[in-house]
Amino acid sequence: MSIKDTIEKNTKQVIVNKIVDYLGKNPEKNVGKIFEAIKMLTKDESSLSQIEFVENYYNNDKCKHEYIQDILKNTDTKCLKKFFSNFFANATWYAGPKRQKYMDEEDTKIPFVMLLSPSMRCPLHCKGCYASSFSKKDDIPPEEVDRIIGEARDLGIYYIIILGGEPFFNDYLLDIYEKYDDIMFTPFTSGLLLNEKIADRLKKCGNVIPMLSIEGFEEDTDARRGKGTYQKVLKAMDMLNERGILFGVSSAVTRTNIKTVLSDEFTDMLIEKGSKMSWYFLFMPVNGEDEDFNMMLTGEQRDYLGRRSREIRANKKYFTIDFFNDAPYVGGCIAGKYYFHVNSKEDVEPCIFSHFSTVNLKGRHLIDAFRDPFFKRLRAIQPYNKNMLRPCMMIDNTEVIINVCKQVGAKPDDAGADKMLNNVEFHEKLKNTSKEFKPYAEKTWKEFFKEKGNENFSKG
Ligand code: SF4
Repeated sequence: MSIKDTIEKNTKQVIVNKIVDYLGKNPEKNVGKIFEAIKMLTKDESSLSQIEFVENYYNNDKCKHEYIQDILKNTDTKCLKKFFSNFFANATWYAGPKRQKYMDEEDTKIPFVMLLSPSMRCPLHCKGCYASSFSKKDDIPPEEVDRIIGEARDLGIYYIIILGGEPFFNDYLLDIYEKYDDIMFTPFTSGLLLNEKIADRLKKCGNVIPMLSIEGFEEDTDARRGKGTYQKVLKAMDMLNERGILFGVSSAVTRTNIKTVLSDEFTDMLIEKGSKMSWYFLFMPVNGEDEDFNMMLTGEQRDYLGRRSREIRANKKYFTIDFFNDAPYVGGCIAGKYYFHVNSKEDVEPCIFSHFSTVNLKGRHLIDAFRDPFFKRLRAIQPYNKNMLRPCMMIDNTEVIINVCKQVGAKPDDAGADKMLNNVEFHEKLKNTSKEFKPYAEKTWKEFFKEKGNENFSKG
């Protein structure tokens, strides 16, 4: 490391320590100083303008001001410090240049976040879930999970989302969260296995932000996830909230629960329970079953989801992420570029919904997947559509996945993916879905987005 780099690194560390200090003592009174320090750490123009955007919101928007104040006041100090040091300092400022080095030297993009499914086992049998009936022998062995996470960190990945299956089925993952205490972890969980003991450990770790699955009020949640689930999820929220652990929720939005999950009543209930954010996912036809199409949103509903998510984000003390309709903010499809998924067979997939791969990690290093033509080809042709409200290679630009898989020899990892590639009838249905959404997407792209998305991000 050169003298200049060493000085820069030390200066960075001093500023990071200062911010962590502010977060430990009256953080809500030191917000101005925290923003100033963060800006000193940020070098590139686009990140700086994003931070100024948030700062401006904080100073001039009553709602967002109260939202940030609420987080600073009511979050456990260690959780707050870990969120800052792991997610911002490590994942963004320290690891950004490390990941960029691979890009500059060998045109290999190291994604910002890894999604990992160590096990597909789950106590529930939800309609349309891709995690159906798996046994322990289908799990990734714990030492492999450890190795993969270690390799990810070495490459500069400090944000890891744990999926499945049910993440809390495996106790050893708590040891992993403890061991990798410089990484931020987000398990997506049913919440059913959370108990006081686990909640205490999560608080002790500080580097875990769980997302609890909920499909609406009692009737909708229990209908999809099984009787009694709703009350258990609410109890899990209380356990996390009482301890000041940051958490959010995730909802698979279908034709039947859309009105409920986007209602004021439901959102206000979540805020009251202490949730800080909601992720909305479209119900996707990844199982290859015809009935999936009846649960998928209509074109009009998908458009409404985007509008309503933006409205909630703007008007409530809450944050929302609409995985599809927010695509313009991140330059369209992010598969294989900013994120990727390792499934429970250790296949590396470009996204959680696209179950296709060329690299399996048994006996191979994680970087092989990023160096492989599959991810490089996807990056090269992103965005697949000028209209970034139609970002997807499976449900919006239905030929893309077929063509790319052919070009690079990617194989389907399950029966649903095989159907997506090879079943003409199924493909016709996908095309119809895409056609139906197109006019709504065109209108909103023109009127709301003024035909502009995040071009910088789209080039990745
Ligand atoms: S392929 Fe589709 S679902 Fe996957 S990241 Fe891209 S837009 Fe999202």
